[in-house]
Amino acid sequence: MEEKSKLICDRCKVDMTESEVEFSYLNRSFRHKVPRCPKCGQVYIPEKLASGRMNEVEKMLEEK
Ligand SMILES: [Zn+2]
Repeated sequence: MEEKSKLICDRCKVDMTESEVEFSYLNRSFRHKVPRCPKCGQVYIPEKLASGRMNEVEKMLEEK
């Protein structure tokens, strides 16, 4: 286990680089850093992050 969690794009076989991506959810948008393929632009969103983040947003919306 030398590398932490380097992700490689399945299509291009290149290292994904972390970049800030804007998501839209329930007519709201928020930004988060996710690994993104510099070639095809595909982003990798870990399920945990996706569900965790969505829960956060849902909570935020409920509170307001
Ligand atoms: Zn790619």
